[in-house]
Amino acid sequence: MSKIYDVIVLGAGPAGLTAGLYAGRSRLSTLIIEKGQDGGQIAITNEIENYPGQQLEGESGPSLIARMTEQAKKFGCERVSDTIKSVDFSGKTKKLVGTKGEYEARTVIIATGAHPRPIGCKNEEQFVGKGISFCATCDAAFFEDFEVYVVGGGDAAVEEAMYLTKFARKVTIIHRRNELRAAKSIQEKAFKNEKLHFMWDHVVEEVDGDGMLSKMIVKNTKTGELTTIEADEDDGIFGLFGFIGLLPNSELFQGIIDMENNYILTDDNMHTNIEGVFAAGDIRKKSLRQVVTAAADGAIAAMQAEKYIADLN
Ligand code: NAP
Repeated sequence: MSKIYDVIVLGAGPAGLTAGLYAGRSRLSTLIIEKGQDGGQIAITNEIENYPGQQLEGESGPSLIARMTEQAKKFGCERVSDTIKSVDFSGKTKKLVGTKGEYEARTVIIATGAHPRPIGCKNEEQFVGKGISFCATCDAAFFEDFEVYVVGGGDAAVEEAMYLTKFARKVTIIHRRNELRAAKSIQEKAFKNEKLHFMWDHVVEEVDGDGMLSKMIVKNTKTGELTTIEADEDDGIFGLFGFIGLLPNSELFQGIIDMENNYILTDDNMHTNIEGVFAAGDIRKKSLRQVVTAAADGAIAAMQAEKYIADLN
């Protein structure tokens, strides 16, 4: 018979790793299951500068997350790399079935996060990895001295566009409105950056190219006018990065857990509508999705799991 853990944490981003750290530190037997690399969104974030207490200038998401991973390990969390395909939360013991094995626990903390929203233009899928990217940290170097376009006007778009200016010859933000949503402090830096340009009131309609992205059609959202943008003749290609928000990774729980717009509903203590099942981080319906709020959710969820287990005994 497989081991029944006190806590299974699904996802190893800031919420999941903090939940693991707190659960492990409370001497609960804890398993963290992650299908890819640790970190979730911040694994592909170039710079984190607003995590409290952070002093390292220009610290990257991966370096911050590496410390969180180590800390969870230090407190005894077991780790498995697997993709969970189905869950059964109907009994007192919660069951999760992955591609490599089956896992059981008294409590589950869902911290599966969110993934980038596609740009939504014609032919997009064909050019993902061939000019279209959702990760500046991963792909910026590929566009050294090329032209790059960034879609979006939020914190992520503007911060990642600034990062891209370290590599690309010219970076143009394409935004559907004529003002940015990003925090004012981020905007101030962006407007001072000479390599950063803005194409206001535009969206990308269609992308094209011979294998690699070299052409796109953008539409003026006010006039409807279409403009074709082609790669510089010497370059032959350009980059297009999408940062237009996130979509929750909640498909696995559809019809099982209460949600709103695919985000899991919890109370202030991270309880879902199912006893013994908690949710933490970007997967939750909440007002602020940041590393610090994800970490806080993870800590609360773990302490609530401990309380729930104590009440069971
Ligand atoms: P976001 O804040 O939701 O911004 C999404 C941006 O994409 C908005 O400017 C939006 O335009 C635009 N957009 C949405 N759908 C679009 C579409 N279909 N076509 C074209 N444009 C579209 O998303 P985010 O920047 O990815 O940030 C996600 C969360 O992470 C936020 O809570 C953010 O604060 C947080 N974050 C924080 C930091 C930081 O604090 N340093 C860094 C990165 C992310 P409109 O403005 O017109 O709605």
